[in-house]
Amino acid sequence: MDIFLTNTATRSKERFTPLNPDNVRMYVCGPTVYDRAHLGNARPVIVFDVLYRLLRHLASENGWGKVTYVRNFTDVDDKINARAAESKRTIGEITAETTQWFLDDMAAVGALEPDHMPRATQYVPQMVAMISDLIGKGHAYAREGHVLFRVRSYEGYGKLSGRSVDDMIAGARVEVAPFKEDPMDFVLWKPSDADQPGWDSPWGRGRPGWHIECSAMAQELLGDSFDIHGGGNDLMFPHHENEIAQSCCAHPEGGFAKVWLHNEMLQVEGKKMSKSLGNFFTVRDLLDQGVPGEVIRFVMLSTHYRKPMDWTEKKAREASRTLMKWRKLTGELTEDLNGETAPTPAVLEALCDDLNTAGAIALMHDLASQGALAELRASARIMGLLADDMGHWVERPGQILDAWVQRLTQAREVALETKNFAELDRLKAVLVGAGVEVQMSKAGVVLSAGPEVDLAELENLT
Ligand code: AMP
Ligand code: ZN
Repeated sequence: MDIFLTNTATRSKERFTPLNPDNVRMYVCGPTVYDRAHLGNARPVIVFDVLYRLLRHLASENGWGKVTYVRNFTDVDDKINARAAESKRTIGEITAETTQWFLDDMAAVGALEPDHMPRATQYVPQMVAMISDLIGKGHAYAREGHVLFRVRSYEGYGKLSGRSVDDMIAGARVEVAPFKEDPMDFVLWKPSDADQPGWDSPWGRGRPGWHIECSAMAQELLGDSFDIHGGGNDLMFPHHENEIAQSCCAHPEGGFAKVWLHNEMLQVEGKKMSKSLGNFFTVRDLLDQGVPGEVIRFVMLSTHYRKPMDWTEKKAREASRTLMKWRKLTGELTEDLNGETAPTPAVLEALCDDLNTAGAIALMHDLASQGALAELRASARIMGLLADDMGHWVERPGQILDAWVQRLTQAREVALETKNFAELDRLKAVLVGAGVEVQMSKAGVVLSAGPEVDLAELENLT
């Protein structure tokens, strides 16, 4: 089955053909590890996880040997240094802790681990070698402990994002510095003070710029050219333009990435997520509030990756209802214990059509209503949904309600004895307010979650 992907570099939807069918190669820019991943950061992770799953699923049918997925950790960056200074902790502690948070939070939203997760600090020799090579080829120059990339030396600069260098100079927040030949030139290497992380290099003790990290790690793990490069569209300029310039000038015989994929940004309730608007939250915040990782994933996949997506509480509630229903329907499946049922071709076709996850979800609703449950589950699993190890949350309403049944039963006994029903009535009103249907009779207390029940609220009620 053919996959079609919208390539930012050509601005068209193209049939995907791997450069080397023995090894389909994908690189995605990963996080800078100084803080918890915010909800927007989870979007590329989930989108490219679906692509990774799809490529792996189609590998044998399409005669591909293996799929290699690389996503880096940027663990040398001035934001990390600043965080260490303000928190009086070491850089190593901060990056180790944040890296583990990222892995935990992305596992919670059902993302598989990439095949390689290189940390920038482990590839500094490769970065130094690439920078030396660029200097040797006339594409970079050393000045005052810095090394800069000579943007005017690469005629392809700006092609990815469709801008000319002059437009970029006019619009960009480029840093003018006395050691730059041209304001557009960007840093490959910069000097470090004694208290900043640094490595010895031909240009003195220093540290790499952000862009060279991805070029060097991609080169080392995937080679001069590879199939897919992904990331959020905020990275297209300057980060991806700079990656292309560095890699194509250092290895003109390779073409660096063939297909460039960019996800659009995530917003919250119609607004850009920002700390000043008070609508900034992390994946962990949501998980801690009781929003299951599977629900986060479902909401993300209900919008096409090339469209801006809006996170709303309403969508999360709807996703939770749908998943709960699907899990109930498929939970009893005794057939297909070995997962032999294949995903429905129409769902695969939707995913192969530029990752139309929203279309795939619509088709899965049809499968659910037709009672095609084994196909529903197989189709969902291709997208990382309805996995066995992500389903514990559906038991939670039952557990929460069981605790409330006990509490209400006791309160009812006390009320009958004392003839004071005030506390019992209060508890009942609280539950009804949270969307629970309450029935009390001599036979006991029966609670059932209504369609609008808010689990997180229910758990926190007193
Ligand atoms: P950063 O740590 O800012 O470099 O971002 C890591 C990844 O998250 C990059 O691929 C970004 O493009 C992506 N990203 C950052 N903010 C958002 C957002 N609001 N929506 C979607 N993706 C985002
Ligand atoms: Zn990158």
